[in-house]
Amino acid sequence: MTKAKLQKKKLVPISPDQQALLRALPAVDSLMALVAKETFIESIPHTVVVNSIRKVVGHRRQQILDNDPAMNEDSVSDARMIEVVKNVVHQAMTPNLKRTINATGIVVHTNLGRSLLAPEVIDNLVTIAGRYSNLEYDLAAGRRGSRYSSVEELICEISGAEAALVVNNNAGAVLLSLETLARDREVIVSRGELVEIGGSFRVPDVMAKSGGILKEVGTTNRTHLRDYENAIGPNTGLLLKVHTSNYNVVGFTAEVSLRELVDLGAAHQLPVMEDLGSGTFIDFSRFGLLKEPTVQESVTAGADVVAFSGDKLLGGPQAGIIVGKKRVIDAIKKNPITRALRIDKLTLAALEGTLRLYRDEEKAARTIPTLRMIMLPLPEIQDRAQGFADRLKRIGGPRMHIRLLESASKTGGGALPLIDLPSLCVGIQIDGLSPNTVEKMMRNNNPPIIGRIEDDLFVMDPRTIQEDEYATIEIAFENRIMKA
Ligand SMILES: *Cc1c(COP(=O)(O)O)cnc(C)c1O
Repeated sequence: MTKAKLQKKKLVPISPDQQALLRALPAVDSLMALVAKETFIESIPHTVVVNSIRKVVGHRRQQILDNDPAMNEDSVSDARMIEVVKNVVHQAMTPNLKRTINATGIVVHTNLGRSLLAPEVIDNLVTIAGRYSNLEYDLAAGRRGSRYSSVEELICEISGAEAALVVNNNAGAVLLSLETLARDREVIVSRGELVEIGGSFRVPDVMAKSGGILKEVGTTNRTHLRDYENAIGPNTGLLLKVHTSNYNVVGFTAEVSLRELVDLGAAHQLPVMEDLGSGTFIDFSRFGLLKEPTVQESVTAGADVVAFSGDKLLGGPQAGIIVGKKRVIDAIKKNPITRALRIDKLTLAALEGTLRLYRDEEKAARTIPTLRMIMLPLPEIQDRAQGFADRLKRIGGPRMHIRLLESASKTGGGALPLIDLPSLCVGIQIDGLSPNTVEKMMRNNNPPIIGRIEDDLFVMDPRTIQEDEYATIEIAFENRIMKA
């Protein structure tokens, strides 16, 4: 607060009503003595109780000073204060990170944790979490081993790459690769690929931090091979291609393929790198969806380095995967930054489990939740939407109005950016409650249920609702919303 504001605040006189409320407000000590008799504080750490009481008393005092119209004698009564403390203690004891129901229809929803792990994967993850493991121990040789050998082999097997490396996330993978290959040297990138991904990952900024010198070529909509060629000079270190994950350039466009860049790189003895962004091992066009470039295609095209995420279309844990030529990957492995970006054993367990599922593509599509949701057939979604709507109608009675909306789900995560996945959503309107109120109540449910508002309806997309979550949503409507 500025000094002027502070003074202004002080000058506002406190009314007799406010003074009375301040006198009635229990002190921290007396409230503590009252709360000590309550059963709800059993097994609650003392510091949590004391901090909660301080917070509640402080907040009330401020409300009175601010002349909050909701303040009256009852607000500062012992019973009311104890009730508020109880809520604050309860909140303090609940984990901040909690399971959430994603009814948004955005499959790889970064704010909601991106990918869900397959049940088979979770089993091993839980075991590894609670036990010692051979994380860095070579059981055959009886001595120290490599943390990464378990996944690197699998990644090479699936992608066809000579070598692989895994780090904390794809942003880290890109930073590390650029730092290794292009520090103090020019990196040639098309102007059409200087993208910003959510969460402030911007290609020019990452480039600057890596020490690489950005050399933009071409135009926003069209870049030609000769643009790259003309930009190559004595200080060129790398040719970079970036997947424009979250937007499309349409109309009068031209881009240079990875293969052409690889040929150009070979002619000038320059390495070529691709930031694939999402990265997938599966050719979605085989399943009737629009094509997303695969990791295998980038490897086959001859890229020296390909970087992609573990938790976008791949459907695994957060990780950054780097594949490519052995000589180049070995150089990246030797970079000290690699150690700062290393993944932990839980990620490793989850990643290995997910990668194992990819040995059988059909099985991967069936069992990896991200893939299963993206490929969920429309008739199945329609069935779920209809059943869900019927059950809600019985719960909601005449106050609830339900509409089935032909709508679109999204892949999310900067993959298949402009593709709508056709879906059938359940839209709800309740007499006497605004859609915003319904949305907020659902969001504050335990577990929180996240939907969206469309056409003045609270809308839920069955594509991202897990089968055992419908009952939870229905209970929320029955016990909270319809009683409001
Ligand atoms: C998502 C994305 C990244 C960042 O990946 P994270 O795994 O979120 O760190 C980098 N580049 C592109 C093109 C992306 O789409």
